[in-house]
Amino acid sequence: MITIDVKGLVKTFNNQTVLHGVDLTVQKGEVVAIIGPSGSGKTTLLRCINLLEEPEGGTIRVGDVVIDGSKPLSGQKGQVRKLRQEVGFVFQSFNLFPHRTVLENIIEGPVVVKGEARDTAVARARELLAKVGLSDREDAYPKRLSGGQQQRVAIARALAMQPEVILFDEPTSALDPELVGEVLNTIRALADENRTMVIVTHEMSFARDVANRAIFMDGGRIIEEGEAKALFSAPQQARTKQFLEKFL
Ligand code: ADP
Repeated sequence: MITIDVKGLVKTFNNQTVLHGVDLTVQKGEVVAIIGPSGSGKTTLLRCINLLEEPEGGTIRVGDVVIDGSKPLSGQKGQVRKLRQEVGFVFQSFNLFPHRTVLENIIEGPVVVKGEARDTAVARARELLAKVGLSDREDAYPKRLSGGQQQRVAIARALAMQPEVILFDEPTSALDPELVGEVLNTIRALADENRTMVIVTHEMSFARDVANRAIFMDGGRIIEEGEAKALFSAPQQARTKQFLEKFL
């Protein structure tokens, strides 16, 4: 079953095309890693899937929600809202609400956006905090947490919406090196539960081990994709080889 189906996605910034008609499908339960040099369009692709950026062309389907990228999003508001509920997003810089506690950060979406009963949302938030190893911090404010803990809260917050898929935009690149492992382990545990996830990352060994499929982008295009271990051990395209050699 296909959870994400992107066809012919086009995105421009200031008349410069940064995504040249990208096609991407993600199966239910699949973990897909997107790798590639800085500026190749990885983050823009991810942000377009969640409609944090407005595409200029192509279609985006997540579950049964379809967006026509050639038409303004302002005319597709109902679909946009539905799609955002199906797509969790974990940012590089955590983006927690600074004036709310950990628990309040996690229940905000379910209560305000989905209209869930507070008790239900709190019960699920506590389960998720246990999952990410932060049960003892539910009353803390974000600034009292380490970057790794904040990112684990952000992951719990994304999960609280019970989305079809979670998109991770370089989830460890803002962290001190000693905090990277705890966040990668949290994502690894989600992969073991067969959650559908797309991860933009520079952590190559993590991508090779955890992803089912890897996608290499360069210049706003997908240059190569394949089974993750195969792509890392035997890349077919010269540009992929050249890129991966830098990590040896
Ligand atoms: P990557 O994630 O692979 O590093 P990005 O998707 O961030 O690449 O960027 C792709 C291209 O789009 C780059 O040339 C970048 O400068 C440009 N870009 C990204 N976001 C914006 C923006 N908000 N305004 C203008 N240009 C942007």
